[in-house]
Amino acid sequence: MLKSSEIRKMFLDYFKENGHTVVASSSLVPADDPTLLFSNAGMNQFKDVFLGLDKRPYTRATTAQKCVRAGGKHNDLDTVGRTPRHHTFFEMLGNFSFGDYFKREAIGYAWEFLTGRLGLEEEKLWITIYKDDEEAFSLWQEVAGVKPERIIRLGEKDNFWSMGDTGPCGPCSEIIYDRGERYACGDDCRIGGCDCDRWLEIWNLVFMQYNRDEEGNMTPLPRPSIDTGMGLERITAVMQGVESNYDTDLFVPLIKKVEELTGKKYAWDEQGFPFRVIADHSRACTFLIADGVLPSNEGRGYVLRRILRRAVRFGRFLGIEEPFLYKMVPIVVDIMKDAYPELEERKGFVEEVIKREEERFFVTLNEGIRKVEEIIAKAKQEGRNIITGEEAFMLYDTYGFPMDLTEDMAEENGFTVDRAGFNRMMEEQKERARQANKGEDAFKKELLLTELLGDLPATVFTGYERLLDKSEI
Ligand code: ATP
Ligand code: MG
Ligand code: MG
Ligand code: MG
Repeated sequence: MLKSSEIRKMFLDYFKENGHTVVASSSLVPADDPTLLFSNAGMNQFKDVFLGLDKRPYTRATTAQKCVRAGGKHNDLDTVGRTPRHHTFFEMLGNFSFGDYFKREAIGYAWEFLTGRLGLEEEKLWITIYKDDEEAFSLWQEVAGVKPERIIRLGEKDNFWSMGDTGPCGPCSEIIYDRGERYACGDDCRIGGCDCDRWLEIWNLVFMQYNRDEEGNMTPLPRPSIDTGMGLERITAVMQGVESNYDTDLFVPLIKKVEELTGKKYAWDEQGFPFRVIADHSRACTFLIADGVLPSNEGRGYVLRRILRRAVRFGRFLGIEEPFLYKMVPIVVDIMKDAYPELEERKGFVEEVIKREEERFFVTLNEGIRKVEEIIAKAKQEGRNIITGEEAFMLYDTYGFPMDLTEDMAEENGFTVDRAGFNRMMEEQKERARQANKGEDAFKKELLLTELLGDLPATVFTGYERLLDKSEI
């Protein structure tokens, strides 16, 4: 059985043999791109090369890119652990052509790698193309020998890619692996028609061939380019013949660690959901912190905090009453250090950051969760299934309990939260803070801050954060 590390290497070697330069993954924190929360695709680090603004000494490249899809435009946070194939952190294997080869070669390489090198059965593979991309339709038949009935035409939403409202864009073509009828979702189970576990999208080939202007006119690019992405976790699951990404060698040691920490057994069903979330989030937290993101109340730091706290909450759900997530770090490092040596270097730091954040959060969490449980119990007695805006705000304001966790817990109990009501109270709060900042109160606040900063040891120091929370979010 192929190991994930072997598949990663085979991919990079294969494209190297075919004239591609192996380029290292860029950081999860995109360089010079404030519009992007985290690197979320292999092409990010080549954006300017595609736009013609940056020149490299190569016209073909291949990478294994660290990606995070949590927050921002691509947000898979809510699907993690529910599908067998989505993660917050994952690796995207890609090959790129900057005005060098185009569709014919891109299709040829992908097909040869999957069927030739990896030995996937052709009968398991299906192709999707953009609805009127006749060129791709004939090339898949000509170059790869795919039968026309296995080439599915999809629309803009699925198979047309663009970098923004204007600029380079073009049709995509995806390679789908049929996991078999037993995963089918029902009578209408078909590619493009459902989103079930039967049709596993493994590889996306983007054919950058137009430039779109402000009016929406598309003119052909003089030198069309190629951008592809294949999820390492997904292709590994296929190659290892397992039920889900969580059963591959990228995750099994993490799931085992959760079993060890909780004394509970993992299973691929609803019961296993918290295990998967913790395993997934431990990777995301480790990689994000190693790339310099720290938990905070805004931007990237806030997303990290959210992921980290979510993992902690699921740990608590499994009965862990003390910091534990930092104990997952050495396992993540062990699995990934050969491909990402920076992890080994920063391991101690990552553990420390996670442990501190856990300690802080445990205090907040225990109080907050008990309070939400009380509110839900009371609401049930009263025959309502909604948490009011006042209640949610009280949890946030008095207990420092994050709104998204209130919503998570509400959902798990078949409840909803009056978000509009919550937002209204939040606005009023901000207005009060603005007024307070104008006068004497601002001085008092400053004084209070100074006192707090002087008195409290860093690890239990939540006062500062709370104060900032109220006036700044
Ligand atoms: P999906 O439809 O399954 O959400 P996508 O179309 O959003 O995937 P792309 O943007 O085309 O994904 O990314 C290229 C490849 O990266 C996908 O074909 C898949 O193999 C992988 N991939 C995308 N999102 C994730 C994720 N959240 N976790 C793991 N792998 C992913
Ligand atoms: Mg997606
Ligand atoms: Mg897709
Ligand atoms: Mg896709």
